[in-house]
Amino acid sequence: MPAMNSASPAIVIVGAGECGTRAAFALREEGWDGRIVLVGTEPPYERPPLSKTGEYKLICGGAALSEAGITFLAGVEATGVDTAGHALELDDGRRLPYRSLLLATGARARRLPFGGAPVHVLRSHADAAALRAKLAPGRRVAVIGGGFIGLELAASAAALGCQVTVVELGPRLMGRGVPARVAAVMAGRHVRMGVDIRCGTGVTGLAETASGVTITLAEGTALEADVVVAGVGAVPETSLAWAAGIETADGVVVDARFATSAPDVFAAGDCCRYPHPLYDGRLLRLESWRAAQEHGAAAARAMLGQTRLSGVEPYAGVPWFWSDQHDYTLQVAGLASAAAREVVRVRPDGVEIWFGLADGGRLVAAAAAGPGNSVAKDIRLAEMLIARRATPDPAVLADPAAALKSVLRSPVAG
Ligand SMILES: Cc1cc2nc3c(=O)[nH]c(=O)nc-3n(C[C@H](O)[C@H](O)[C@H](O)COP(=O)(O)OP(=O)(O)OC[C@H]3O[C@@H](n4cnc5c(N)ncnc54)[C@H](O)[C@@H]3O)c2cc1C
Repeated sequence: MPAMNSASPAIVIVGAGECGTRAAFALREEGWDGRIVLVGTEPPYERPPLSKTGEYKLICGGAALSEAGITFLAGVEATGVDTAGHALELDDGRRLPYRSLLLATGARARRLPFGGAPVHVLRSHADAAALRAKLAPGRRVAVIGGGFIGLELAASAAALGCQVTVVELGPRLMGRGVPARVAAVMAGRHVRMGVDIRCGTGVTGLAETASGVTITLAEGTALEADVVVAGVGAVPETSLAWAAGIETADGVVVDARFATSAPDVFAAGDCCRYPHPLYDGRLLRLESWRAAQEHGAAAARAMLGQTRLSGVEPYAGVPWFWSDQHDYTLQVAGLASAAAREVVRVRPDGVEIWFGLADGGRLVAAAAAGPGNSVAKDIRLAEMLIARRATPDPAVLADPAAALKSVLRSPVAG
């Protein structure tokens, strides 16, 4: 354990997920020698495997936390923030004074607006365990919502021999954040792997029957299932901030250094909404594993920056996420919704790399889906171009013979 200055007031973190845990370790790496207290209702574990393999994978064990001098209050819920008194209130009655407080409370699964039958959601390990126990060869699984988590789960259930149907209200899969062309590649993969995809139809009701669940669809038909899962998005966990009078708006509102509207209170990860310097300060709320880690590290620097003369740079990490469905991986870098036009490169292996350009030609997003790890290198290079605000020649982007590395020498926007 590092030499610790236990007399100084603690930095307190709420939420031991990807963001909060990374923040705790980053504080030590950045040289903070005072107390760090991590408060979590759950242990620190990875969520991405829950919808893929179902594996329970810890981010770190208790030994790593204590070696770094991080006090972990496990199974404890933070119930209130006294912003004037600089103290966090816990469900066991304790009050924790803080020097700085980081809210890394994540998000919770959105529920369907109606009952009628048991419906699974997938956010926590407990959710995944309950769901996995129901999946077996031949079982009819209905996934409501064609977003990433629903589709990953559809692929996992199909691999386990289930008969899977995905019902999506929008006209296509992954309408939020993935370009249509790339989503179509994944849709094709699902269909080839035997998943029944039904877009453009909503669920209007559920009823439990002797043989399972009847799902009524807006188009007037019905679907029979043994297991129903809702993958209809996540809601940021802002209740603590809201009750403390901290500004929230579909996320805890923070600046580009993760500072909230309350003094010495920060928020980061899935729970926060922050202005992105690469996208004209547009307020973003991401649900991304890598962003959660980067936010945690950046928030740690920002909390320490309060005592430094040098100041702290605004966080400008390029949004990035991946999704594994069947034997394909999808990756998106940047913000597809910021693109005004698209350019597609068709590689000799048939994989399409999608580029999104803003008015003026700046590259603002890239996306692709393909077998295994086949799209990773191109998306990594595109990500570097996005970070540099490059304005590459569209003809070069479209040309599979032109190495993307050479495009890195493109002019940079003012
Ligand atoms: C099933 C699934 C699959 C995913 N797959 C991918 C993927 O393939 N690629 C990708 O990029 N991203 C993926 N993600 C998203 C990624 O996991 C999240 O973006 C990331 O976990 C967010 O980290 P976080 O720390 O902000 O929030 P969380 O991981 O939600 O952690 C927040 C923690 O805070 C705790 N907490 C909340 N309130 C309190 C309180 N008052 N007191 C104490 N503790 C509290 C919660 O219990 C939770 O443990 C996936 C998410 C899920 C659910």
